This record gives sequence, structure tokens and C-alpha cells, in this order.
Amino acid sequence: MGEYSERLKGIHLIIGEGLCSNIYVVGKDEAVIFDTGVGNYANPVWPQLEELGVTPNMVKGIVLTHAHHDHAMGAFIILERADPKVFVHKLDTKYIASRFGQNLVIVEDGDLIETEIGPFEVIWTPGHTEGSVCLYNEDRKILFSGDTVFPEGSFGRCDGESGSLKAIINSLRKLTELEVDIMLPGHGTPVLENAGEHIKQSHLNASRYS
Ligand SMILES: [Zn+2]
Repeated sequence: MGEYSERLKGIHLIIGEGLCSNIYVVGKDEAVIFDTGVGNYANPVWPQLEELGVTPNMVKGIVLTHAHHDHAMGAFIILERADPKVFVHKLDTKYIASRFGQNLVIVEDGDLIETEIGPFEVIWTPGHTEGSVCLYNEDRKILFSGDTVFPEGSFGRCDGESGSLKAIINSLRKLTELEVDIMLPGHGTPVLENAGEHIKQSHLNASRYS
């Protein structure tokens, strides 16, 4: 992805290999990391961060779109060497996130998370899990969509422990109200233009199941 366009400046993608989320690194000197992957040998977080020039003292924040293993376990590897705040929605703090101790910062719908490239608003989007969130930057019209929305009309599974089809349909409808050009999903390839159309399609597709 690199310097694809002005609006992606300051955002780097580390693609997840296998059952591992994408990792997005926003900023550098005060980096905020959106999802952390599964943290296994195929996805070695620190070498990947160091390749971007991000050293432990630069990592200031971790934002988890939800607390599934494939998004959250990498956070423990990061915490071995760095001391970032770890932002998680209150409804996803039961299992993994309860182990972040004093690094954990509980967020709710509407909260703003500051980064070097501007603030990202927490959009509560339950459905894949009850504490799933997307993160939205209005200036750049960028959405980190976690496992709530995927490209080409796909959306997250709702058959997990706190999943709900009804909830994800609502969440997708809520996301269609945002102006989104760029969508950075938790798995797969980012959408670099007209992402709003993908979200509308996902909402339509999900609605058909109800
Ligand atoms: Zn998930």
C-alpha cells in the first residue's frame, strides 16, 4: 500500500498471513497500531514493526477492533517491549482484554482516539462480537472496519459467542450513513476508493439473511 495516495500517508499495512488479522500502523514517532494479529511465527510483530522504523518506545497506542485471538494476541508481544495504551470497547473486555491490566483503556461509541494523522472516532458496530468497533477519520474518509465489513459486499460472521445477525445489520446500516472512501478491513485487501459502495452492498447482503 505504501504511499498509494495522499490520504494513506502515515498508514502502513502489515498483511496477516493465515489466520491472522491485518495490522495497520498509523504514524511513526507516536505510532498507534490498529489490530495486532495473532502474534505467531508466521506473523512476527516486532521484526515487522522494526522494518517500518517503529521501535518499542515509539508505540503509544493499540486499538483492537474486537478481542478475537487473531486480532489481539499480537498485543501481548508488543506489550513485552512497549508500554502503549490498549483501546478496547467495554463489551469486548471479558476474556483476552482483561489481561491487558493497566494498559487497557475502555472505549465507547463516539470516543476519539488521537493519532499523528488526526483523530479516529470509535463507531460501535456490534454483530461480529458485541464489542466490535470500527474507527473513522472524517477528514480522510477512512474507515478501519475490523471484521464488521469486508470488501465486495462481505461482512463478518455472526455465529460466534457474542455474535448477532440482527446487530450486524444495524451496524452496517449505521456505517452506510458515513462518507467512506477508503476501507481498511481486518482481513484481506483494502478498498482504496468508493468504499461506501462496498458497505452499502454488505448491508444489503446481510439484510437478505434476516
Ligand atoms: Zn473476529
